[in-house]
Amino acid sequence: ASFAKLGLNKTLQKNTKTLGYSKPTYIQEKAIGAVLSGTDTYAIAPTGTGKTAAYLLPILQELSQVDYSAEQVRPIRALFLVPTRELALQVEESIGLYGKDLGLRTISIFGGVRMQSQANRFKRGTDILVATPKRLMDMLKVKTISLEKIQFFVMDEADRLVSMGIHSELKHMMALMPAKAQKVLFSATDSKALNKFSKEYQNRVKLIKG
Ligand code: AMP
Repeated sequence: ASFAKLGLNKTLQKNTKTLGYSKPTYIQEKAIGAVLSGTDTYAIAPTGTGKTAAYLLPILQELSQVDYSAEQVRPIRALFLVPTRELALQVEESIGLYGKDLGLRTISIFGGVRMQSQANRFKRGTDILVATPKRLMDMLKVKTISLEKIQFFVMDEADRLVSMGIHSELKHMMALMPAKAQKVLFSATDSKALNKFSKEYQNRVKLIKG
């Protein structure tokens, strides 16, 4: 298969080519079509298998199809929840590479940085938010950000996220976003806690094993 055959547009084909990706990895082959089709997805894929591009490429494509460039303040349409600051920075960097020339804005937020300096960056809005749970909750509390326009919610390293003991925080977040938001879970391992979360929040899930 090729990235073109999976339905990715010319810009994304160019960007993957620039990175030297000759063809999709196994998990990308399975997940890109599923995410593009709009179904909730639960993918078991260890780090190193190309999981980041597996969820980023289809979502970046969907986001770029609606032009918000004229909006004064762009609404957050995609939320990527990650367990650590390191992963937040990695995902933000990957968005820059995979999403080059799509015209999308990204902000990442995490602990260890003054909240005010992060809050200032939201004045122009953003299409994409990459966040760790605690900082996201803090910024939701002071109403710096809104999840009302979320179309895509991704949990990366979802097994680690659900094991952080943040069940009530997750419940709160899910309640703030539209029920019809597409929910995508990527996890290195399958777990009871994760299955429970999936049953609670995902609909008609496409299960993918990497
Ligand atoms: P990840 O599993 O997302 O952490 O990706 C692991 C590594 O694989 C990263 O260095 C990516 O740049 C690389 N990678 C992702 N997709 C592909 C691909 N289709 N072909 C070659 N390398 C890839």
